Amino acid sequence: MKESLELFNEIVEALLKDEQSHPVAEFVPSNELYERLDLNLQDEAVTVDTLKEVLQDLVFKTPRTATNAFFNQLFGGRNDKAVLGDLLSVMLNNSMYTYKAAGPQVGVEKVILRKVCDMIGWDEHSNGTFASGGSMTNFMGMLMARDSKFANVPYDGARNKMTVYTSSESHYSVPKNAAFCGIGRDQVRYIDVDSEGKMNVEHLKSAIIEDISNGYSPVLVNATAGTTVLGAFDDINAISVVCMKYDIWLHVDGAYCGSVLFSKKYKHLIDGVEKVDSFSFNAHKMIGTPLTCSLLLVKDEKHLYDSFSNDASYLYQTDHDEFNLGKTSLQCGRRNDALKFWTLWKSVGTNGLEAIVDTQFELADVARNYIRNHPDYTLYSYDDSISVCFNYKDIPARELCTTLYENSELLVGYGSFENEEFVRLVTINSQNEKRDILNFFKVIEEFVENNENALIKRGSIAK
Ligand SMILES: *Cc1c(COP(=O)(O)O)cnc(C)c1O
Repeated sequence: MKESLELFNEIVEALLKDEQSHPVAEFVPSNELYERLDLNLQDEAVTVDTLKEVLQDLVFKTPRTATNAFFNQLFGGRNDKAVLGDLLSVMLNNSMYTYKAAGPQVGVEKVILRKVCDMIGWDEHSNGTFASGGSMTNFMGMLMARDSKFANVPYDGARNKMTVYTSSESHYSVPKNAAFCGIGRDQVRYIDVDSEGKMNVEHLKSAIIEDISNGYSPVLVNATAGTTVLGAFDDINAISVVCMKYDIWLHVDGAYCGSVLFSKKYKHLIDGVEKVDSFSFNAHKMIGTPLTCSLLLVKDEKHLYDSFSNDASYLYQTDHDEFNLGKTSLQCGRRNDALKFWTLWKSVGTNGLEAIVDTQFELADVARNYIRNHPDYTLYSYDDSISVCFNYKDIPARELCTTLYENSELLVGYGSFENEEFVRLVTINSQNEKRDILNFFKVIEEFVENNENALIKRGSIAK
């Protein structure tokens, strides 16, 4: 073990050093992958030196998600305390299903869940769990919604005509999960959004009324706190009025930006969250823990047991259900995703988590101000969002993003809304500073200036 830990330290130190001068890894095109790296597996063992060489090469050529040049997706940065917690959970290698197997780590998870439920404003009947990502915590929300409406479905199978409502800007896990739940992808009703990407609640209402009159049973409304492209927040209060009236489960998908719960300044964006039935958020997005760390919170824990508990005499042999977390879990064996979050929370305090969230909005303000003050840019997104969507000199966003990637300049993605395609800068890495955001624009500007020929060749800009 000692030798491997030393090797780990050596490789990590080399990586951290190299990231300083090369925030973007060397670009390895997928069609050259197996030629450029030694990934093949052979019958014979390799020497420690070979292993080290091969591992280091692999690590060095892997996309660098923790640097100030990664703005591609909804995570980024590297929080050392959270990494410490995650490394320890790998060493300990517990499975979270029972107290017997996980011991105090069960307490770590329960303390986080309790604290978050308190912050939402829920009483002692509330509870939650962790799952392997936002798609899965959304899945759990949908299953509980289905079972709370039709308690027979987990036993008889799904025979009812059920419907689900979500905005046209919501995450693709909603239709996938509807398929898994036996509700069906075609029974997902995509509700229109307003000009800022928020769900149109009048349309929601009329869609529900129409479905009911056609003999469908609406089981779930999925509201989004931070839509994947624009970072828009649906109006939870207004949606909850509709859900209450028609007795429909309300889930808030806060995978991206539900962590505004930790910010006094921004939690108004999820006003009304205490009225919902379930709420999920990814600590591996805004909070900045390593992947994955996704929490599901439920106002009434009864639903967790109703949908996920199953007896298993070979597994549950000691302690009360309350400490055997497998009884409320989607999985059987489950890795310890709580310790990294707890280690970070313990070290920086709730105030530190608040600062992490607030910084991202401040960085987004820096980016929007820059864009507004520079006429070569067009802004497509709105305030109170950490997704900053823009175009530069009318260069097609997908060409610009791909060329930047292939030239190892920046990793940033593109998105679209209402027939416009644009670059989507995500200011989710709270370790960035104002100058990193300004540098992002500088890199783009210099790149475009120096690579006009390459961009013309790709057809990205006119001659
Ligand atoms: C990222 C995201 C998800 C999915 O979360 P994963 O952890 O990637 O499965 C769901 N909903 C929204 C709004 C997201 O941004």
